Amino acid sequence: MSDYLLRLASQPTLRNVIKSVGLPTPVELKRAGTRYADQPLAGLQVLFGTAKDAAVATAVRGELEGAGATVIAQAAEGAKYDALVLDVTEIDGVDGLKQLYSFFHPVMRQIAANARLLVLASEPAEGGNPKAVATARATEGFVRSIGKEIGKRGATANLIHVAKGAETRLAAPLRFFLSGHSAYVDAQPVHVGLQADAPEAMPLSGALEGKVALVTGGARGIGAATAERLAAEGAHVVCLDIPADEDTLNATVAKIGGAALPMDITDPSAPEKIATYFKEQHGGVDIVVHNAGVTRDKTLANMKEHLWDMVLSINLGAILAIDEVLLGDKVINDGGRIVCLSSIGGIAGNMGQTNYGATKAGLIGYVAAQSAEQAKRGITVNAVAPGFIETRMTAEMPFMIREAGRRMNSLSQGGHPEDVAELIKFLSTPGAVGITGQTIRVCGQSLIGA
Ligand code: NAD
Repeated sequence: MSDYLLRLASQPTLRNVIKSVGLPTPVELKRAGTRYADQPLAGLQVLFGTAKDAAVATAVRGELEGAGATVIAQAAEGAKYDALVLDVTEIDGVDGLKQLYSFFHPVMRQIAANARLLVLASEPAEGGNPKAVATARATEGFVRSIGKEIGKRGATANLIHVAKGAETRLAAPLRFFLSGHSAYVDAQPVHVGLQADAPEAMPLSGALEGKVALVTGGARGIGAATAERLAAEGAHVVCLDIPADEDTLNATVAKIGGAALPMDITDPSAPEKIATYFKEQHGGVDIVVHNAGVTRDKTLANMKEHLWDMVLSINLGAILAIDEVLLGDKVINDGGRIVCLSSIGGIAGNMGQTNYGATKAGLIGYVAAQSAEQAKRGITVNAVAPGFIETRMTAEMPFMIREAGRRMNSLSQGGHPEDVAELIKFLSTPGAVGITGQTIRVCGQSLIGA
């Protein structure tokens, strides 16, 4: 999809002209390759600060070095930094929050284009007393605000709340949030905990070798990009889409060497058919991505009943029905992964989207509740909430609406289907076991639905 401003702003002479007339000058985001490298942070100088050298700091340092990064404790004058990590898991009270200022303030002008900032804080739910909860939660406001200051350089800031003992689960999240794999994930508070039982092995590259995945709505758009990413990481991917889209579905499947499952997910027999397919063909399924979804926008006054029913049954009803069978019959293997496609529309609401917004918010509640049920089997259940993504759907929007959606985020540009696929892939890997029941936005810190 062509973003004219991004193209023009990449030329130094035009960039100044664009700036002088007050238009945003987005920076081309540096995205990583399709497959996880053994050492994705190779060559990266990571400025690392910690309040106290305890378990989290030791684990972080080890994981960063294991991922190929050089960890430095002291900033050098004039140097530019691609990654800055601050561990404040050990701070106590408001005085401890000063670490946020002391670490980042001196280097704010040394943050490179496309840099990654990451704060590690304690888990607010474990705070125990209101003061500790307030301290842990304060980091969120800091990260969301600093994200808005550095976004114009294509840089992002994210926050990981680390539960006690969960530092053993930081390897994959550190690699994701400090690399180009998370290019459009910005200003997100993510919780890494011990809820779900860990798998025996947590491979960090070729992370999905031997896994079987189902992607609904896999013929095109975000679904096709997800199928490609999962396959690139080693999974055998089954793409499901409506029979009317079979040609597109077959083309996608041919590209990734997976399998096609032409089916309408709202067909009452779909849950059983899917369960039978995976039991017979693969003995089960490891990853289920509930991506199929539609919009049928009308203000509520003008919305015909069938448009309400259609959106509710595709975007929510079918997902719950399919999971009921796949989980009830244990077709989803132990250690499995479920990822649902929510939307920022399910967080903030959108004019003309009462039907869509209801379904996407429903999924946020669903993953939180279902994750608790599935934790004992090591199954994680999460949602991703995309913002403005450059797809056929958004290309068809009227120019002004498209421009507003594209620019109203910290990175001043739309995301790509691949950016959403990257987040889905990350949540599908064994190494993301610490993350469950959460909804993570991939929206470049959209100003909609703060
Ligand atoms: P898309 O329209 O390009 O693809 C959706 C796919 O789902 C299509 O291939 C379609 O045939 C399939 N599908 C629809 N109904 C189906 C059914 N009943 N049974 C089986 N398959 C069915 O959409 P997209 O932009 O790639 O969006 C994918 C998901 O991401 C959706 O759930 C959408 O709500 C969500 N999302 C997208 C954006 C965005 O900006 N594109 C933003 C937020 C959320």
